[in-house]
Amino acid sequence: MKVLLLGGTAEARELARLLVDAGVDVTSSLAGRVSRPRLPVGKVRIGGFGGVPGLRAALADYDVVVDATHPFARGMSANALEACVAEGVPLLRLERPGWEPDPAWRYVATHDEAAVLAASLGERPFLTVGRQELARFVPQLREFSVLARVVDVPEIELPPGWRLLTSRGPYTLEGDLEVMRGHGCDVLVTKDSGGSYTWPKMEAAAVLGIPVVMIARPEPDPRAPVVDAVGRALDWVLSHRRGQTAAF
Ligand code: NAP
Repeated sequence: MKVLLLGGTAEARELARLLVDAGVDVTSSLAGRVSRPRLPVGKVRIGGFGGVPGLRAALADYDVVVDATHPFARGMSANALEACVAEGVPLLRLERPGWEPDPAWRYVATHDEAAVLAASLGERPFLTVGRQELARFVPQLREFSVLARVVDVPEIELPPGWRLLTSRGPYTLEGDLEVMRGHGCDVLVTKDSGGSYTWPKMEAAAVLGIPVVMIARPEPDPRAPVVDAVGRALDWVLSHRRGQTAAF
């Protein structure tokens, strides 16, 4: 049995390791967005498939697909669902849970709303929304003293008052306190990514008493079965290897 594992997350790397250990033929797929990706064990392919048509063609080589992409990588998830339905290939969505909501956080539905709210809450925002989304904050926050943390340098030119911090998690509370105090951040903007890698900034915001603007997750497509734990995704794959159809 051959498994296509759409990755780019810690959970996907963990699942790849478990599948390799179980003797499953798994190929992890990465988008190729970051310059030095953390590579999972096992086979890896890098780069887009070329939309739904490309993915449909690629599915000829696989028996099942696990979509373990990031909760905000909805384009890839939508393509995976469409291609798998069209080709009759079983698909499972592995998605880590969002963070337990805190009454102090202000949820917004979009990055544009986050920019507006952040502009009303502070003057020295800490943006931790990813390189690809930074452009959406520029119109509202052009004149602000923004600290933007990203893995790789963005392609857009940033306003002169913005400071770029390139780094990659996992982070620590001590480290994030130092970063946020050092810049004098007065509002934190983040996506509801969930997981532990980027959680310390949430603790740091609480310690420093600064407001949090939380971009809510886009709604998942209800047609794809979803699990939130790597172990359950492993069980799903193994049940297909045995020819069983697990209830998910
Ligand atoms: P996206 O907007 O949903 O996808 C855009 C396009 O990138 C897809 O249509 C696909 O191109 C390609 N792509 C995305 N994930 C891929 C994968 N795992 N393997 C092969 N091609 C992939 O995705 P994104 O938000 O840019 O995220 C890109 C990658 O970064 C994902 O693997 C995701 O897990 C990871 N990531 C994203 C975030 C985030 O906040 N969005 C955070 C951490 C990690 P084609 O149409 O050509 O197939």
